Amino acid sequence: MQHRLSSSSSDLKRAYDVVVVGSGYGGGVAASRLSRAGQSVCVIEKGREFPTGSFPSRLPELRRELQLNGGKMRSGSRTGLFDFRLGADIHVLVGCGLGGGSLINAGVALKPDARVFADPVWPEELVADGLLELGYQRAAAMLRPARYPNAPELTKYRALEAASAAFGLPPVAAPVVVSFEDTVNPAGVAQPACTLCGDCCSGCNVGAKNSVAVTYLPDAKAHGADIFTELSVSHIAKGETGWRLYFAPSNDKDAVPDFVDAKTVVLAAGTLGSTEILLRSRERGLGVSDRLGEGFSANGDIIAFALGGKERVNGVGVGHPPKFVGDAIGACVAGQIELSDTCELDRSMILQEGVLPSALAPLLPVFFIAGGRLLGAAQSLIKGVYQGPLSHLHTFFVVSHDDAAGRIKLDNGSAQVDWPRVADQPVYARVDAALTRAAGAVGARYIKNPMAATNMSTKPTTAHPLGGCGMGQDAGKGVVNHKCQVFDGNSPDSVHAGLYVCDGAAIPRSIGVNPLLTITALAERAMVHLARDHNLGFDDGSRVRQEADQALI
Ligand SMILES: Cc1cc2nc3c(=O)[nH]c(=O)nc-3n(C[C@H](O)[C@H](O)[C@H](O)COP(=O)(O)OP(=O)(O)OC[C@H]3O[C@@H](n4cnc5c(N)ncnc54)[C@H](O)[C@@H]3O)c2cc1C
Ligand code: SF4
Repeated sequence: MQHRLSSSSSDLKRAYDVVVVGSGYGGGVAASRLSRAGQSVCVIEKGREFPTGSFPSRLPELRRELQLNGGKMRSGSRTGLFDFRLGADIHVLVGCGLGGGSLINAGVALKPDARVFADPVWPEELVADGLLELGYQRAAAMLRPARYPNAPELTKYRALEAASAAFGLPPVAAPVVVSFEDTVNPAGVAQPACTLCGDCCSGCNVGAKNSVAVTYLPDAKAHGADIFTELSVSHIAKGETGWRLYFAPSNDKDAVPDFVDAKTVVLAAGTLGSTEILLRSRERGLGVSDRLGEGFSANGDIIAFALGGKERVNGVGVGHPPKFVGDAIGACVAGQIELSDTCELDRSMILQEGVLPSALAPLLPVFFIAGGRLLGAAQSLIKGVYQGPLSHLHTFFVVSHDDAAGRIKLDNGSAQVDWPRVADQPVYARVDAALTRAAGAVGARYIKNPMAATNMSTKPTTAHPLGGCGMGQDAGKGVVNHKCQVFDGNSPDSVHAGLYVCDGAAIPRSIGVNPLLTITALAERAMVHLARDHNLGFDDGSRVRQEADQALI
């Protein structure tokens, strides 16, 4: 049984060596590495802690975890696990809780095509100093991506195989941060083997997903970090000896802000969260690059469906304990088709089969009937989604490239993405064409957007927001340098002492693969630099390399 990681906010001290804002991949890495280095570390997270077993497994529980935020429009608790940012041009889904997006993601862990890092948008030192590779090794040693050995036997994998005939290219098993055997992980947390229940995207109630909440954060806690939840940082300002961070309880909008001081601040509140904090801080006088908010990318990411094929897919999770006993479903993503374009990187895409969480099961017939696309959905209402026509529902996740021309701005104090005509980005037409072919290969009909009649409408939605505080060679090109230090805007190279952005916000372009491994690797790399710059040490790289050799990257 895992102990709670978070403490009562009354235990929060007035000052720390380091305050880490946010607890996703970037925040987890910073908290673990800097507490190992002997720094007094405090983590402040907006969302709640979800101990294993407490994730929503029924529709009413899931509904309670939904927050919709769109400028002046908002509904749901500010600590709801699924944080939807509804924009005028594009919607964004992020995770909110101790562990950030790792709590609700599919856990696919991939390295980008080498051509991504050849783009001069990145600072030269990033690849030149060799530490990015060490970052990936360190990330893999902790998160341990693995391919499910029996993936080809899963029904949904075979369904993807049938769809892959459209491209003449078979699928491969996808590396996911899931423990497929009972284990004690590198943070010392016992993890049972994955039960193949498919519910990864509503939170793993088994404890088999190697989320930040069972890896980096327990490691940080074991090395003395103080972790606080349900507190939101509004902005930061330069204090007498370092930084002052202003925060308030997440669900009390009238609370008088409190503050905490730190010599070093690591902003790791996610692409929208970190950019939002810096935008608010700039409004109060903090010097930053004019690039702040620019370079937002959706990573060419979409979710789409196909329905009506002859063969079963088994693409709806059963949860834990299982709501339906039948063939194993599999972790959310088990297989992918890698459509690499050797001439034009931007045309490359990866098509993954996915599983919808069991808590959504009662809604699925409603959505697909409302779309009018499924004859016989009523049968699904009766038999449930596990035996009726919805057992033939394909869910596809696609990741590719866009031109990162979105802009994050403040609307009513919170981040909104401004990206006129984003739906006309060529990536969406290419993905539509590919999915139409994949659906055709299994005799199914491609369904681009079953949510068209809801608040989501037909706008694109991404779960892979990147950029806003992108890395660049200097303040004219980026918001942070290759070490994730924030440019102060005084001269092209000068940075604020002790201010870092370590999360998806620092990625200046689409990367064409699911981003968790790269976000983690960049944060690991930044911490190696921070340690070297401040003469700190946190562990022995050779052990890390050995463990990484055993993991898949
Ligand atoms: C449904 C879904 C499926 C996905 N599947 C995959 C996948 O298979 N593979 C993959 O690589 N990626 C996947 N992703 C994306 C991946 O999870 C994210 O890219 C990743 O979690 C981002 O990490 P991060 O460190 O940038 O920030 P996050 O993980 O977003 O963490 C930021 C944290 O900061 C907190 N925060 C925000 N504002 C504040 C504030 N003001 N004060 C305090 N705390 C704050 C947030 O609550 C959050 O917990 C998926 C995402 C979703 C939503
Ligand atoms: S399939 Fe189920 S048990 Fe396995 S990682 Fe996903 S949620 Fe956890």
